[in-house]
Amino acid sequence: MKYPHTPPTTADLYDAHSLRNYNRSPLTLVRGAGIYVWDDEDRRFLDFTSGIAVNTLGHCHPDWVEAVQKQTAQLIHVSNLFRNPQQGELARRLAGYAGPGRVFFCNSGTEANEALIKLARLHGVKKAGGEEGKCLKIICAESAFHGRTYGGMSATPQDKIQKGFRPLVPGFAFGQLNDLASFKALIDDTTAAIFVETIQGEGGIHACTPEFLHGLRQLCDEHDLLLMLDEVQCGAGRTGRFFAFEHAGIVPDAIGMAKGLGGGFPIGAMWVRDAHADLYQPGNHGSTFGGGALACAAALAVLDIMERDKLLARVCEQSGPWHAALRQLAAEFPTQLSDIRGQGYLVGVQLTSEAPPYVAALREQGLLAPMAGGNVIRLLPPLNATAKELQSAVDIFRTVLAAKT
Ligand SMILES: *Cc1c(COP(=O)(O)O)cnc(C)c1O
Repeated sequence: MKYPHTPPTTADLYDAHSLRNYNRSPLTLVRGAGIYVWDDEDRRFLDFTSGIAVNTLGHCHPDWVEAVQKQTAQLIHVSNLFRNPQQGELARRLAGYAGPGRVFFCNSGTEANEALIKLARLHGVKKAGGEEGKCLKIICAESAFHGRTYGGMSATPQDKIQKGFRPLVPGFAFGQLNDLASFKALIDDTTAAIFVETIQGEGGIHACTPEFLHGLRQLCDEHDLLLMLDEVQCGAGRTGRFFAFEHAGIVPDAIGMAKGLGGGFPIGAMWVRDAHADLYQPGNHGSTFGGGALACAAALAVLDIMERDKLLARVCEQSGPWHAALRQLAAEFPTQLSDIRGQGYLVGVQLTSEAPPYVAALREQGLLAPMAGGNVIRLLPPLNATAKELQSAVDIFRTVLAAKT
C-alpha cells in the first residue's frame, strides 16, 4: 500500500482504509479536557459538538474517568446470562427519573429505538388477540431521525437515509410534527403506537409543543396505542430536565435513550412503563453487550456527577441568558440568522443559507459545532459548561457573522 506520506498520516490511513460513509471534517482530534479538544497540530477548539450530544460532562471529566478506571479493574463484562450490580442500580436510577417501569439496556440509540419498535409490535399482537401482522402501524413524524438500523431507518422518512436500502420495514406512517389532526387522521384499527422525538435533533431542532404532547397522550389513551418517545438526543439532562418530556408534564409508555447517557461510553436503554413491561418475556429480545458492568458504571458516574453538581438546575439557569445572547446575535445579523430554537443546551441556530461554510468558518475561529437538517447549526455544550464558555461561543459566532457581511 502506497501512502502520500511516510509514515502515513491519520488522514492517509482513513483515505486508504476507512469506509467512505461519512462526510468528515478535516480535523484529527487527539485529546480533550472539559469543553476543549486539541487536534494533532495542538490547536485548541471549544467543543460544542460534544461528540453529537454525547459528552454530557465534557471530555475526560476526572471523576468520571476515575469511576470508569475503577470499574475496568474490577469487572467489565459478563453478559446477561448473569446479573451485575451496576445494571441493577442503573435501572433503578433511570426508573427514578422516568417513573414506575422496567429498563432494557443496549449499546446505541438505534438499538434502543429497535427495542421500542419491537415493543409496539408486541403490543399490536396483544391488541389483535394474538394474531401477528394485523396491528403493526406506528405513526411517526415528518423530518424525524430514529437511527440507521432497519427499524430506525424505516421510522426516518428521509430519502437521503432510506435510498438504496428499500424495501423497508412495513407499517410506518408519518404525520406533521405539532399537527395533532394529521396524527389523528392516521389512526385506525391497525395502529399500535405513536413514536416521536420529544425534540427533533438531526431534523433541525424542532420541539413537540406541550399541547401536542398532551394531545398525543390523549389519542394514545383513547385508542390503546403506546406513546413512545425517542429521547436519544434530547434526554439525559440536555434540556435542563432529565427527560425533555418532563417540561410538558406528560408520561409516555416507553422511552428510548442513548447518546448522553454514558457520558462518552456507548450505552442505550429503553424504559417501559409497568403496564406494558411484561410484553417482553424471556427469550424475545436481548443484547450480548447491553447493560455491561463497565457501560453501566460509566452511566452511573454521569448521574452521580450530574446530581452532585446540580447540573440540571445549572443548565436551566444558564440557558436563559445564553439563549438571550444568541437571540441578540440573530437580531444583529437578520440577513444571516433567522431563528434560535431549542431548550437548555440543545440549541439550533437557523441560518438563511447553507450551513457548511459557517461550520468551516466557526472551526477556523476555534469553535466546533455540528449541522442539522435544513440549514441549521447545533450548539450542544456539555452540561457543566460555564457561563463564560457559553459566551465564548456567542463571541466566535459574532466574529464569523461579521466577517461574512
Ligand atoms: C443519534 C440519534 C439516534 C441514533 O443513535 P445511534 O446511537 O447513532 O444509533 C436515534 N434517535 C435520535 C433522536 C438521535 O439523535
